[in-house]
Amino acid sequence: MMRLLNGERLTLSACALGISERILADVIEYVRERVKLSRPAGKFQDIEHQVVEMATELQAARQLAYYAAWMETRKMECVRETSMSKYLCAETGKKIAVSAMQIMADYAYTMACDVQRYFRDVVILSIGGGTTQIQKNIIAKTLGL
Ligand SMILES: Cc1cc2nc3c(=O)[nH]c(=O)nc-3n(C[C@H](O)[C@H](O)[C@H](O)COP(=O)(O)OP(=O)(O)OC[C@H]3O[C@@H](n4cnc5c(N)ncnc54)[C@H](O)[C@@H]3O)c2cc1C
Repeated sequence: MMRLLNGERLTLSACALGISERILADVIEYVRERVKLSRPAGKFQDIEHQVVEMATELQAARQLAYYAAWMETRKMECVRETSMSKYLCAETGKKIAVSAMQIMADYAYTMACDVQRYFRDVVILSIGGGTTQIQKNIIAKTLGL
């Protein structure tokens, strides 16, 4: 049963990564097309930096998930890594969704914008399969706390 939970945590990590990747792609498309003060929104440094943070944090979460999956497929002890992966991917997904909502603003609140759905969908990934707080409890135990 405990071994099965590693797989569940990795699956939910992958769901969070997939949603995050979609949000990032939609945001990049939006800021390239949306013109503000005669230039694309993506040319404003604050927007650029927000998108860079989203891309960087997503890449870090992806690498941790791949590493945990690599350990699991080799049947190595990886409770700590799968819990870290689930926690980081889900929380990064939520962070990316909030940033996207802020950047896309009023458009993000319309049904024409898929980000409003990703924003709602991503939150369950930090609840189901053991909440983020429970993942932290598990990680703390593996650290001997
Ligand atoms: C849409 C949806 C689908 C679901 N699907 C499934 C499913 O298919 N299979 C399944 O088994 N379950 C499923 N669940 C249940 C899900 O796993 C639980 O909701 C989740 O484990 C949290 O339990 P709880 O809702 O009883 O919250 P509680 O345990 O009451 O927790 C409430 C809050 O307190 C925090 N908390 C609780 N204990 C601690 C602690 N010791 N330390 C720190 N913080 C703590 C939690 O992190 C949470 O934020 C689903 C839930 C939802 C909303």
